[in-house]
Amino acid sequence: MAKEPLRTDYAGELSAARIGDTVRLAGWVAKRRDHGGVVFVDLRDVKGIVQVVIDPDAIPAAHELRMEYCISVVGEVRARMDGTENPDMPTGAVEVGVAEVTILSASDPLPFMIDDRADTEELIRLEYRYLDFRRPPMAAALRARGAAVHAMRTTMAEAGFLEVETPTLIASTPEGARDMLVPSRLRQGDFYALPQSPQLFKQLLMVGGVDRYYQIARCYRDEDFRSDRQLEFTQLDIEGSFWTAADVQAMIEKAVAASVKAVRGVELPIPLPKLTYAEAMDRFGSDKPDLRFGMEIVDVSSVFAGTEFKGFGGALESGGVVRGINAGALGFSRSGLDGLVSDAQALGAKGLAWLVLEEDGTWRSPIAKFLSEAELAGLVERFDARPGDTVLLVADMAKVAGAVLGPIRLQLGKPEGHEHLAFTWVTDFPVFDVHDDGSLAPAHHPFTQPVSLDDMVERPETAIAQAYDLVLNGSELGSGSVRIHDPEVQAKVFEVLGISHEEAQSRFGWFIKALRYGTPPHAGFAVGVDRLLAILLERDSIRDVIPFPKTQRGIDPLTASPTRVTDLQLRELGIDLRPEVKARLTEQAPGD
Ligand code: ASP
Repeated sequence: MAKEPLRTDYAGELSAARIGDTVRLAGWVAKRRDHGGVVFVDLRDVKGIVQVVIDPDAIPAAHELRMEYCISVVGEVRARMDGTENPDMPTGAVEVGVAEVTILSASDPLPFMIDDRADTEELIRLEYRYLDFRRPPMAAALRARGAAVHAMRTTMAEAGFLEVETPTLIASTPEGARDMLVPSRLRQGDFYALPQSPQLFKQLLMVGGVDRYYQIARCYRDEDFRSDRQLEFTQLDIEGSFWTAADVQAMIEKAVAASVKAVRGVELPIPLPKLTYAEAMDRFGSDKPDLRFGMEIVDVSSVFAGTEFKGFGGALESGGVVRGINAGALGFSRSGLDGLVSDAQALGAKGLAWLVLEEDGTWRSPIAKFLSEAELAGLVERFDARPGDTVLLVADMAKVAGAVLGPIRLQLGKPEGHEHLAFTWVTDFPVFDVHDDGSLAPAHHPFTQPVSLDDMVERPETAIAQAYDLVLNGSELGSGSVRIHDPEVQAKVFEVLGISHEEAQSRFGWFIKALRYGTPPHAGFAVGVDRLLAILLERDSIRDVIPFPKTQRGIDPLTASPTRVTDLQLRELGIDLRPEVKARLTEQAPGD
């Protein structure tokens, strides 16, 4: 057979239908069993694995083959001998009797086995990411990611959205996180920022009449790695003119449903459920409620109106609430229940009351003796309690009750894994977050339209925004809002945020100017692609669905970035490292 083409077939696609055909395959040695007289090789390519059989007397090179050598073979597809078929392998009915082997390239001994075991240390996997890609779980993640993004693009394009690229070297924008900065060589002392998102550019596209925009956008936020975050991440970013919040949500639902279909092969029932922020906080103690399970927070304040029990009465008198969850048949021992009380205290509660419903319908609890018959019966009714159920109660300000019961609900009820997908919209977010010192920060970003301008000016702490999040299994997948399109309203928001007219002009004068040229009402959203994929593929970390991620400490073990640069590079940028930084660098070896 001629050397061209380099491959006639994929190893993983051979089947009994091809018996008798001569094929040329190319791939990697996934397994090798050298029985002296005969060498069996599992040959792996992008589609799968097939067994090839080599007679080393005819082809002495067979003895040289080692794990992950890249080889090409020519041979005949034949049925496996009776009893040696492998029903677990898609190609298990056949093998290839090899007539010719070419070693295309050898491989050094491997740092880890190329299989689906998960015990290899992540740092090593990241250092050899290219070998990690050959492992089935990573290969599957790359394919799923490609399919999901393709489905998003197709959905958006079919709905008439235009993909527009926005720059990555921009002026600093106020989206709440720290900007990643890039020094300018041509204008020493000035810096570009990498975009936290394309927010202002997509709004400018609306001013420019683009009408429907989307982009698979890379975003950068210089955050400490508290949780499973990355310095750079990917969003499906969309914006539309003459669009309502409902229009945005319907479009995002289509794009998300298409990616769920692409990855999981199932139809996502849409429209997705909706909760307001206030409902989510009251019923689940979280603005990203996990709806895979119930265990909702129930307000039982009315059961205790006028109670003799000081623990609850005091809280109610000072404007608080009594709320709780029915944690079901926990079966906790006394020390387990005491552990929950300590957890609640660590979360900011003064205490946590527990009550276990006995078979005879009485409550076992340290506080039972302080409660009236009517109150005890009220608890059974409000929590729909069955014998064996444990009810946990917090008496405090509503905010504290939610902040305590929310995490305890997750601790006791959250399912393992993400087999079930529970999406929800959370709408009507507040305009501002109020910090402990009383200062305000935009809850979403400062370009979000408040529901009422008067409320925002007069009662900023409680004002509601036209902002909404998409939540999946207790994780925030993305956020969006109806935007401010009136420059006067935009100026007011900056004012309430304490940003002076001068500062607003110097930082975003260019954007406010654009709003003065006939800006259409517009709205948009961004979905975190990494988080969506991690949940759909049931991976523990977004790092497992990002081709080349950084570690928790922001390091790339593959390229060793971030790296030092030469003195000349720094000089060209007009940058001088501070003496203490220089001293530290002299002490440390590069890469430490
Ligand atoms: N730019 C926003 C973000 O990254 C999303 C949006 O409002 O469209 O969260």
